Formats: sequence, C-alpha cells, structure tokens
Amino acid sequence: MTAQPIIVWFRRDLRLYDHGALSAAVGMGAPLVPVYIHDDETPGRPVPGAASRWWLHESLQSLDSDLRRRGSRLVLARGPALNVLADLARETGASAIYWSRGYEPRAVKLEGALQRALEGAGVRCRRFSGSLLFEPEDVRSDGRAPHHLFSRFQKSCMKLAAPGKVLKAPPSMPRVPEGVESDTLELWNLQSSEQDRGPSISAAWTPGETGARARLEGLICDRLEDYARARAFPGVEGTSRLSPHLHFGEISPREVWNAVSLAVSAAAAKGRNLEAGARSFLAALVWREFPQHLLFHWPHLASSPFDTEFADFPWRGGDADLKAWQEGRTGIPIIDAGMRELWTTGWMHHEVRVIAASFLVKHLLISWQSGADWFRDTLVDADPASNAVNWQRVAGCGADAAAHGRVINPVLRGRKLDPGGAYVKSWVPELAKLPAKHIHAPWRASEKLLAGARVRLGETYPEPIVDLAAARARALGAYETIKGGSQ
Ligand code: FAD
Repeated sequence: MTAQPIIVWFRRDLRLYDHGALSAAVGMGAPLVPVYIHDDETPGRPVPGAASRWWLHESLQSLDSDLRRRGSRLVLARGPALNVLADLARETGASAIYWSRGYEPRAVKLEGALQRALEGAGVRCRRFSGSLLFEPEDVRSDGRAPHHLFSRFQKSCMKLAAPGKVLKAPPSMPRVPEGVESDTLELWNLQSSEQDRGPSISAAWTPGETGARARLEGLICDRLEDYARARAFPGVEGTSRLSPHLHFGEISPREVWNAVSLAVSAAAAKGRNLEAGARSFLAALVWREFPQHLLFHWPHLASSPFDTEFADFPWRGGDADLKAWQEGRTGIPIIDAGMRELWTTGWMHHEVRVIAASFLVKHLLISWQSGADWFRDTLVDADPASNAVNWQRVAGCGADAAAHGRVINPVLRGRKLDPGGAYVKSWVPELAKLPAKHIHAPWRASEKLLAGARVRLGETYPEPIVDLAAARARALGAYETIKGGSQ
C-alpha cells in the first residue's frame, strides 16, 4: 500500500532551499502535493498590487520549473485557502498539511481556523518557521512585553542565538499523485494590468530562487565591502535589492544572514575587511524583522496609526497634488526621480522613499495611507508590514517615530545624497544639462542658465507644486494640533 500523501502549502516561501516544511515533508518519504493557492474570493482579503502580481506570476513559474527538475510540479488552485485545502486533502487522501508560518493578522487567523477544521477531520497540520530570523514570541523585553522601539528590539534580537544552519534543497522529489488537477497561471491573469508599464520592470528583475541567489552573490562580491557608506546614495547601486526576493520568500533571511557572516570570515582570511559592511547590512536585515513583529503584536497597524492621537489629523484631500506626486511631476527633482524610478522598475532607493514619503505627508499634507496605497500597488517588494510601519515612521505616527514634526527639506537632502545629480539625471532626463549646483532646485537657477540647459520651467519641467517654505510652515501648524508635535 502506498503511503498517504502530504500536502506542502506554499505561500510567501517560494523556494526549495532552507524550506523547513518541504524538507520535513520530503523526509517522511510519502508522495507530496506542493500547492499554491490564489484566493481572489474571500471578502476583505488583502489584494496584492499590480507590481506584486507581476512578480508572483514570474516567481510561481520559476518555482514550478525548479520542482519539475526534481520530478514534481506545482499545483495551482484558486479559492479560499481553507476550502481548497480541505477539498485537496479529501481528494488525495492526504494525511497531513505542512506549511511555513505566516505572521500577518489574517494569516494567523486563517492558520488557527485551518488547524481546527482539518485536525478535526483527521488531517495533521504542521507549521514551520522560515520567513523570519527570530520568532515574535521570543523577542520581548525583560517584562515580557513586545518592543515598539527599534533600538530595544535590536538589542533583544542580538541576545538570542544566531540563526541556525541552512537546509539544503531536496535533490529529488516524489511525483504528484495521478489525477491531481492544476489551474494554469495564465488563467489567473496576474499580469494583465502591468502591460501599460512596458518591458522595463522585467528588464530590472529576475524573480525566482535563482535570481535571488544571484542578487545575494552580487551583494557579497561587489557591494558588501562598501555597503555601510554606499547604501545612502541613490545614484550608485550600493544596496542588495534583495527586498522583493525576501518578501516572496525566494530566499530565506537565514540563508542571507549566514552567507554574509561566512563572507566576512572568508574575506578576513584573504586580508579583506568586510566587517563594517556586514554589520550595517545585518542591521538592515534586523530592520526587516521589526515591522513583521510590530504587526504581529499590533494587528491594526497596517491601516491605522500606532499613535492614536493621529486618528483625527487634519490631512488634505489634494487629489491633483497626489497625482502629480504619483506621476513624478512635483517639480522637486529628487522626488520626481524617485517616483519615476518606482513606476519604471517597481523599486525605489530607501533614502528616496523617505524623502518622497515625507514630502507627501508633510509638504502636501496628504495622508500616509494614500502614499502607502500607491506604494502597495507599484512596489515589487510591497509588504503590508514594512510598508505601513515605514510610512508611519515618516509621518510621525508610528511605533518608533521620533520625528513627529520634522520636515525633511528635499533640496538639501537631495544635494547631500545625490551631490553630482547623477540619480536625478538618470530619471529626469529633461534636467540632464543643468549643472550639478542647480539640479536639485532648478527654479533657483537664472533664466540664462535654464535656457542654456534647454529647461523651460512650466513647459519642459514643472514649477514646484508647492512653495517649500510655506508648505513647511503649514505642516508644522498641522502637527501642532497633535500633542508634542512641533520641534
Ligand atoms: P538593503 O539596504 O540591501 O537591505 C537589506 C534588506 O533589509 C532589504 O532587502 C529589506 O528586506 C530589509 N530592510 C532594509 N531596510 C528596511 C526597512 N526600513 N524596513 C523594512 N525592511 C528593511 N521595504 C519592503 O521590503 N517592503 C515595503 O513595502 C517597504 N515600504 C517602504 C515604504 C517607505 C515609505 C519606506 C521609507 C521604506 C519602505 N521599505 C519597504 C523599506 C526599504 O526602503 C526597503 O526594504 C529597501 O529599500 C529595499 O532595498 P534593498 O533590498 O536594496 O535594501
């Protein structure tokens, strides 16, 4: 008699390496049914943005190819996960379902419901860790309360054991039992709304496990040594660009952590010092954990401010300004460069995300939720926890938001982070002939200089949509209405 199959439910863990649930299931020696479920029916479910759907399509295709190379395949099923898994378990006679644990409020709730429903029907449910380095239950203050300040969160993480060993991908896998049907990806139409963006997004990325590992290698070989310095400058490729790969779980944070740590010792043996770069990069990986833990402990954070004083903040509607910001037509070059980079590639440099977000919530007084919605739709790394927590941090209403009423000056910040203007020139080519001294504030250049650079403000490039000084004063006034707001 053949053993009963085990269902491996893939979610945001689209990889074969370092996959606890998959390794454990393969170790049982039973037939396996690897499944990915697309729920576009349950009311109130999180709807992924257009860029995320584009990525998901590519990533599922890549996972299916990797499974096929090992003798298996990915089963694609559509509908509410609980119903799909219950049906699949019944049809295949599966004895168990294995999956990687999720941390978002809906995922936690779903897993509980699944466990109750399926265990009651005799199907064993096993959850595994794998998307985070540290479990939310383990990172707590001495009083056992969860942290809401990053510095304390980081300190607690560093007291825990270093992430363990990486699991190998199974070299081969059992065939999916006969008769198990699958949708086709084309049927899900995930990429339909990305067509108007053209081919640029696919030129910028290689979704899937192989692409993720290539990014990791690029970080270690080319960027780690100078990461601590270069990460601040959007005009150079100084960061890893691993964020979408990590979001979709195409590579585990544990594999990234271990590879970077190993690279430090290997380089030291050859007389190269990667320590500063590695320290700074690993701190970024711990930063990645922080929003996930916050959302786990404070589930309302994805859509409501952590600081409840902000519930009645006097945000403006500002539809025309919001549109100009989305389309990179604010007349503030560093912001327009960032918003165009985002639209074209699905990604934006972190420091520019901060400047663009601050401009929206402070200078334009448009709610952080409106900005987060646009990012959710356009970022390939759009993540409910990271997006909301970072937006709230900039808006000053977050769990760790020191900068309540601080208003970033985009001209000064632009000059600091893009001193030669290379970043602005690459995304705002209509300003390319302006000298670096004027590129972050073309409206302050003389008529003669503008004419020489073929810039006609209001025609070839917009005038600023707000007066920066007046908008700053307006923002400070609005933040005054929040206790402790002005600085
Ligand atoms: P690296 O500098 O190479 O960092 C390595 C990894 O650390 C990243 O891949 C990422 O997983 C993690 N990381 C670094 N900084 C942060 C941070 N501040 N918050 C969370 N994780 C971090 N990141 C997302 O992954 N998804 C989002 O939806 C998202 N929305 C953001 C919205 C705003 C308004 C801001 C200011 C930041 C947001 N970030 C988000 C964080 C950050 O900008 C990106 O993680 C980073 O730019 C990714 O580039 P990288 O992979 O080259 O980063």
